[in-house]
Amino acid sequence: MAEKLRSIRGIHDGLPQQVEIWRKIESAARRVFARYAVAEVRLPILEPTELFVRSIGEATDIVSKEMYSFVDQGDAHICLRPEGTAGAVRAYLQAGLTRAGTQRWYYCGPMFRRERPQKGRLRQFQQIGVEWFGAAGPVEDVEVLAMAHDFLVEIGLSELRLELNSLGCPACRPAYRDRLVDYLQQRADHLCATCHERMDKNPMRVLDCKEEQCQQQLQDAPEMVAHLCQGCAGHFAAVRCGLDALAIRYQVNPRIVRGLDYYNRTAFEIVTDQLGAQGTVLAGGRYDGLVQELGGPATPAIGFAAGLERLAMLLDAPSPTSPDIAVVALGDVVMDWSLQQAAALRSRGISVIHCGGGSAKRQFKIADRELVRYTLIIGEDEMAQGKVTLRNMSTGEQQLLSPDEIVLPA
Ligand code: ATP
Ligand code: MG
Repeated sequence: MAEKLRSIRGIHDGLPQQVEIWRKIESAARRVFARYAVAEVRLPILEPTELFVRSIGEATDIVSKEMYSFVDQGDAHICLRPEGTAGAVRAYLQAGLTRAGTQRWYYCGPMFRRERPQKGRLRQFQQIGVEWFGAAGPVEDVEVLAMAHDFLVEIGLSELRLELNSLGCPACRPAYRDRLVDYLQQRADHLCATCHERMDKNPMRVLDCKEEQCQQQLQDAPEMVAHLCQGCAGHFAAVRCGLDALAIRYQVNPRIVRGLDYYNRTAFEIVTDQLGAQGTVLAGGRYDGLVQELGGPATPAIGFAAGLERLAMLLDAPSPTSPDIAVVALGDVVMDWSLQQAAALRSRGISVIHCGGGSAKRQFKIADRELVRYTLIIGEDEMAQGKVTLRNMSTGEQQLLSPDEIVLPA
């Protein structure tokens, strides 16, 4: 017998109950983002592989081992997007918007990374992301953080922790990096294989190692926040002041680094303790160098992305929704008229299923299984009078009415 086909490991189906939660989160995002005048963009899922190699950086986990990339029939190197920022920058440049003033964008959609699947870590997952182009000052950082905060409050997650760091800039980071590498080399014997690899390619990523033993070694590691240049220190202080002014609580966490190379200055994560090692539900930061890196003029920018599946795990499943009315048509003669009644109710915004005719027993079974609030029973007698019988399924109470008299209590 042929084996059953299953979805790819780490790639899940969104069944109705699940999608209901996602939609709630997305509509909260849309409401909140609109208040900040942030507009939706819908960007390609397939992009040239080169885009991610150039923006995210070859030494990152994403580019070195997690991308789903392939060569198509025309020998083009193509990749399923692992994140949204690079594509947004590409689109911004391609549309010639660099002189059009601040662009505030958001997107919702699937991203793909071939990592080891775990709870909260999938190979296809969804992000709600925001990118602000032309956002220079610390005020924009504060506004973006406030928006992320408002979004989580809107979906009922006000208890999450905002962690903040500064990653410095090309002026102050190299000197810090050298100090960090010195520190790491002295402890190299006690660091894991991944840390060794990162030490050479991307030493700040070592700070992010999830191994307990490595974290112990890192306790006294030099911190970027203590080595910022004047410009970066001033920027960081202003961001903190702004958050204080808005009474948004945060903690400075000098261990926050982004997995991608293009970030500078403000970096942040919003975390929960409820999801183990997958506790970061939203992450972002400033990426002032990226637009230029991809061929545009120097353009400061900041953004974040939230993982929809991780957010959904923190929310209760909504109770399943059932149709308002099931139409029970008794006899072939009434079929057409019953279809018209169903259509008329739907045009008034009422959700209706038609039980498809046949025996009354079969149709009531359907109505029961679907947990409808009412059945609309239509027999020849009813139709002759231009009326229908409305039965309240919880009380059993029945009324003979003309279809346009039907008003359902909320
Ligand atoms: P992590 O450290 O958990 O791997 P990351 O730094 O790779 O996260 P980002 O690239 O910053 O994550 O993506 C932003 C958000 O997208 C994350 O905070 C998380 O909520 C979500 N996310 C990232 N990777 C995955 C994944 N494989 N499965 C589900 N959600 C993910
Ligand atoms: Mg990751």
